[in-house]
Amino acid sequence: MLPISNEFAANTINDNLFIYTIPAFTATGLVVHGFTTRSGGVSTGSYESLNLGLHVGDEEDAVLKNRRILCRALGIKFEHIVAGQQVHGDNVKIVTKQHLGCGSKSLADALPAVDALITNSAGIPLTSYYADCVPLFFLDPLNKAVGLAHAGWKGTVKKIGSKTVRCMKAKFGSRPEELLVGIGPSIGPCCYAVDSKVIDQVAESFPGFWKELVKDCGGGQWMLNLWEANRRALLDEGVLESNITVAKLCTSCNKEDFFSYRASGGCTGRMASIIMLKKIES
Ligand SMILES: [Zn+2]
Repeated sequence: MLPISNEFAANTINDNLFIYTIPAFTATGLVVHGFTTRSGGVSTGSYESLNLGLHVGDEEDAVLKNRRILCRALGIKFEHIVAGQQVHGDNVKIVTKQHLGCGSKSLADALPAVDALITNSAGIPLTSYYADCVPLFFLDPLNKAVGLAHAGWKGTVKKIGSKTVRCMKAKFGSRPEELLVGIGPSIGPCCYAVDSKVIDQVAESFPGFWKELVKDCGGGQWMLNLWEANRRALLDEGVLESNITVAKLCTSCNKEDFFSYRASGGCTGRMASIIMLKKIES
């Protein structure tokens, strides 16, 4: 039984392949999108079974098979998917047709030093890979533009979500108050223990309200709420509260259903976020 989110929809593709979607995104009719779970693929051992990450020590053949399984289910061409190398930075890449397929079959040609991808071209499937870090989804239904951003604690304190909004504004004319945003399954405030070095940077990035994002457990240990940190940063950027959908699903609490770096001790697979503007016949 898949964990239920009150905000994200859980879609059963077949017996063991499930994809979470954001109802507000689906309602626009403009995109194919989703976030995977760990089931429905062919990988084994620590990577069982739908590991979509090429960089985690799994057999490459299995990962490529898994990517094909996902793409077939979504009606997307596997050869077209675009991925960044994800270095816990805050670079936002504007993806165009010339990047089609970059990172689809190999990490070597993934877009270098990139943690966020945006595009206003239809037919380009953007992807990003996760085991605990926060997946951010963006859709501008007016200007028809989309984005994904990978926000671990480093991306969160660098406010990669806000930066993605600013880039969509600069490049596509997106207005923050019209953007739809999804915050996907990732490690929750229930499980994300960090030390004071991390908390110092949270305090520096969110001086007005950092105490609302953390819980002091004593002994130099803190619990950090990455969902709320990202949500508050987006609100500060002008995104409307009613346009942000938060899955509130913890990958570490639900390690049977999700890959969790923390819950697995480090050796595990990756789920994917994916979004593509549909080609609409006019
Ligand atoms: Zn948890």
